[in-house]
Amino acid sequence: MMSTPSRVDAHCHVDLLDNWQEVIRKLERRAQFTLAVTTTPKAWATEQEFARHCRYVRIGVGLHPQVVRERMAELPLLERAIGDSRFVGEVGLDASPMHKDSLPDQRKVLGRVFSVCTEVRGRVLSLHSLRAAGLILEMLEETKVHETNTIIFHWFTGSASELKRALSMGAKISVNADMLRTERGRSHARMAGPECTLTESDAPFTRAHSSVDGVPNMEPAINALAECWGVSVPVAMSSVAHLAHRYW
Ligand SMILES: [Zn+2]
Repeated sequence: MMSTPSRVDAHCHVDLLDNWQEVIRKLERRAQFTLAVTTTPKAWATEQEFARHCRYVRIGVGLHPQVVRERMAELPLLERAIGDSRFVGEVGLDASPMHKDSLPDQRKVLGRVFSVCTEVRGRVLSLHSLRAAGLILEMLEETKVHETNTIIFHWFTGSASELKRALSMGAKISVNADMLRTERGRSHARMAGPECTLTESDAPFTRAHSSVDGVPNMEPAINALAECWGVSVPVAMSSVAHLAHRYW
């Protein structure tokens, strides 16, 4: 008998959902591969402790670029935690008007993250790159962190040529159904293809992935992805699950 491949949520803010402990239990029961990203290393410690026996739910240690200004003091904590965590996220850069001012601090944090990852190797990073894909690509080229770690660009909104550069460095992308509603999002998913594409909910920040029982619903993403690739839903599901299997 063929079993249904697991659903994959490579970027989800589980700790911002109602009753996150219960969400983690449900995700485990459903065997939904989940990268639960955190916005601060303090949040990571609590969640990691709760999920340490999980097979499907992985907790990423992060320092979100949008909170770097207030949370800079937690950088040493983040650096230490990366030593104990195979998954890192949410980290990255945000050059949108509201957060541009803190770019120097954001770059400092991401630079430290990349250098620790280069040292310890084997990490899986979920990167935020809003209006900053080019800057991140430069940092990848400088640090070569992608050569010994896995880079996943979450909700990539850069240009086609930036995506091409990212893919040529071995980076992956994770896509959600809101992103796949735009022509740019669909063309990114076609360019990355089944070799390099994971699904994500980015819950609770997307409209398409909310679910009645509190657990992000991945169906809209997988359906949109199948349509975009011109394959059946089971084929899209199994290629995404296959890729996730390598990292979880
Ligand atoms: Zn996010």
